[in-house]
Amino acid sequence: MRSLLFVLLLLPCSGFSKPIRYEISPLFRDGALCLQVRAWFEGDADGETELAIPYQFGGADRLFRCIQNLACTTSGCRLRMDSDTLFAIVEHTPGQELKLYYEIAQDFKGDHIPENNAFRPVLQPAYFHILGNSLFVAPKWSDSYDVTLEWRSFPPNWLLHNSFGSQSVSQHFSFPNLRWLESVFVGGDYRLHRTEVRGYPVWLAIRGNEWGFRDDSLLSMLQRTVTLQRDFWQDFEVPYYTVTLTPLAVRTAKSPGQVFVSTRISYLGTGLTNSFASFATPHKQLGVEDLYHLFHHELMHNWIGCKIRNGCSPNDMQLAWFSEGFTEYFALKNMLRGGFVTPDQYIDRLNERFFKGLYHSPKREASNGAVADSFFLDPEMERLPYLRGCVFAFFLDHAIKTGNGGQRNLHLLMLDMLEYYQRPDRDMRDNFDFFLDLCTEYLQKDAAPLYQKHILNGKLIPAEAFVLPPCLKMEVDAEGTPFFWLDKSMAGWEREMGE
Ligand SMILES: [Zn+2]
Repeated sequence: MRSLLFVLLLLPCSGFSKPIRYEISPLFRDGALCLQVRAWFEGDADGETELAIPYQFGGADRLFRCIQNLACTTSGCRLRMDSDTLFAIVEHTPGQELKLYYEIAQDFKGDHIPENNAFRPVLQPAYFHILGNSLFVAPKWSDSYDVTLEWRSFPPNWLLHNSFGSQSVSQHFSFPNLRWLESVFVGGDYRLHRTEVRGYPVWLAIRGNEWGFRDDSLLSMLQRTVTLQRDFWQDFEVPYYTVTLTPLAVRTAKSPGQVFVSTRISYLGTGLTNSFASFATPHKQLGVEDLYHLFHHELMHNWIGCKIRNGCSPNDMQLAWFSEGFTEYFALKNMLRGGFVTPDQYIDRLNERFFKGLYHSPKREASNGAVADSFFLDPEMERLPYLRGCVFAFFLDHAIKTGNGGQRNLHLLMLDMLEYYQRPDRDMRDNFDFFLDLCTEYLQKDAAPLYQKHILNGKLIPAEAFVLPPCLKMEVDAEGTPFFWLDKSMAGWEREMGE
């Protein structure tokens, strides 16, 4: 979860595109697995082609350490690179056909995945799990990428599945930029299940047997969740969608990236191109209901973070209050709308997780800049954008509803945002004024001072500023934290909770 989450819009390429072909095969060596990758593409016309080297994905840094034996194997070309940095350029004859070779290896010990290594390449004798950002070295092009992936020599009983499809020896897709790297690739002893939403396939790839639920129960929950959220966004034409669920090592300590902790169970995930990758601690007491929040949150990133892109790099958390906080709010709203939580549970979660979590946090009024700077360093700061953004969304939603006689709400505003931002040349960072102007229009008052005060400066929204529907009552604790309860004696409370 986290703004990593940034899935992409799978768009047909327009204009000029350049082909690149990868061949991927397993190499079993001394009881360990690595992947051999060969890539073929045309070098740039000026005789120098810069390579994008795996670097960082959220809290997983120095990913280039998983790349071994990188070489340009075309005669006459020269690979210049500094060890342990991102700099890599191939010098060659202008326009020359180039071939790269490298290997991907797991760079941490052991056969279990600790939470803090979930986004690093995992390669075990029985399976692999690798995010596209870590698997591919790619030339940096301004043109579109016309990508072919060929999977060679894997054991015949291995499942091969990824964000772009399933069990194909050869895969082909086009992307207008390098966002195709925001993807997940699994192979080995995963079990693959398929369902559909309005005729479009949705896959679940899961491994491990220590879960407290059957695969078909989880698949059914996934199908309901996808249907619900696509209806929310009025966006059903998604050609395919994949979810992976991989067991974590039994939890020992909290680590960045996880979204939930209990005494026994934690889970985390990341939204990607037409997919999300999720992880959880296997436990026979882990029920499907324990994964509602994770699945609703990660799937919500298909729109908030993916189609409504924040435009920041995966380790830039300046807009996490939106990408994570609004995702939290609408994940919870959709859980209510779909019957995954009752109205009382919805209010309880708002109170406990978000209002109490934010207003009682020792860092509650940290500036947005301070949050972004410390996001990966301080778990308390990491929580803030989730909480602050959700409370801000709750505040906006009710202020809009009240100011418009219930005719408009934050949901409608998000649909307007989707229409505007889903064009690949627009994102929140570069086109932020559209968001503020839209908020101003919906609120019928200038939204910029609210954004400045409560997001950038981090000041708490005072209890008296919340405007609420008649069915929602507010109380304030000794520290000034607002808490809500549902007055079911008020007519129309069910309709109000459902919107
Ligand atoms: Zn998230």
